[in-house]
Amino acid sequence: MERIYFDHAATTPVDPRVLEKMMPYFTEKFGNPNSQHFFGRETVSAVDDARDAIAACIGAKPSEIYFTSGGTEADNWALRGAAHAFAARGRHLIVSAVEHPAMISAAKELVKEGFDVTFAEVDEYGLVDLEKLERAIRPDTIFVGVMTANNEVGTIQPVKEIAALCKARGIVFFTDAVQAAGAIPLDVKALGADMLSFSAHKFYGPKGVGALYVRSGLRIGKLIAGGHQERSMRGGTTNVPAVVGMEQALRIACAELEKNAAYVTSLRDRFIKRVLAEIPYVKLNGHPEKRLPANANFSFRYIEGESLLFSLDLKNIAVSSGSACSSGSLEPSHVLLAMGLPEGLAHGSIRFSFGKDNTVEQVDYAVDALKEITVKLRALSPLFPKDLKNEVYEKEI
Ligand code: PLP
Repeated sequence: MERIYFDHAATTPVDPRVLEKMMPYFTEKFGNPNSQHFFGRETVSAVDDARDAIAACIGAKPSEIYFTSGGTEADNWALRGAAHAFAARGRHLIVSAVEHPAMISAAKELVKEGFDVTFAEVDEYGLVDLEKLERAIRPDTIFVGVMTANNEVGTIQPVKEIAALCKARGIVFFTDAVQAAGAIPLDVKALGADMLSFSAHKFYGPKGVGALYVRSGLRIGKLIAGGHQERSMRGGTTNVPAVVGMEQALRIACAELEKNAAYVTSLRDRFIKRVLAEIPYVKLNGHPEKRLPANANFSFRYIEGESLLFSLDLKNIAVSSGSACSSGSLEPSHVLLAMGLPEGLAHGSIRFSFGKDNTVEQVDYAVDALKEITVKLRALSPLFPKDLKNEVYEKEI
């Protein structure tokens, strides 16, 4: 049976054009870019070209791009680097309550070092409340971190407005654009962010490589001490094939963004429309319009997200559950709880994230599978009220 992948927010397959560009850098072009001989010169120019192209894709200068091992490292670096650099000015940090664990955990670590962290509240759609954020700012606030788009529910934040708010107060503003890069247009200057992170494996590039944009003139501390790589700001021999792959992936994503976004949005909208029309007791999580093209996150009442995930898995459909089950905990998603969802609904949530290679047939197959599974699971559920009708609606779109 065909395997259906609806988990592109977790990771994407490497585009064959990306792999092709990377291949020579594993074999004949293997030099260390720090070496002075021609093997090194060959790879240093590839890394320089990649930096130029990547910077151009997001409206930055090449000198503002630092390569990292991915989104988690870039997020940690932005937060810790700013906190340590500006600690003399204040020790208050604000990060949104719906950030990725890469930010939330790093912020909690900083509390142990004597920093004070406010987790900025969001509304029912997962949008940061600008008024509440403004009220949370204190004279000793040095850093605000709000993601461009959320990885679980896809909500796109008012980043431009938040950046302006921070700029007016001299506060460093960072945005985690790991889910946004390659999915929606990104221009660091237009956004006004001081720092921004992204990660290649979310846009059909390789895993284990990402970047941090740091506005020129902003001096942050380093996270990884070592050699003189990345202008002495991030030690470690450059992962040349990965950097070259990220460049190719971002170039392709930028060039094909409009076409892919329109296609993926059409799949997602068909899916959302059918699920809401044909399956009862379902809630779409996240903002109805301000959301990533690929994301559809639902809570299925009276059903555990994990049971649904495993039932879909048995039907060869790969999705992700809202709870952090994969990381070994069965806690409901902190994102859905921050949006005010009751625990029961937060437990019954599933994220479907579509990609450029998915088809309408796959979407329809998944809706039909969901209809069958939800009836079965509800019939077994002790939580399902006996007086409710356990059936699907047969509406065609
Ligand atoms: N930030 C967001 C919003 C993400 O979705 C992810 C990955 O899921 C990360 C950060 C971490 O990126 P990486 O997997 O490259 O470490």
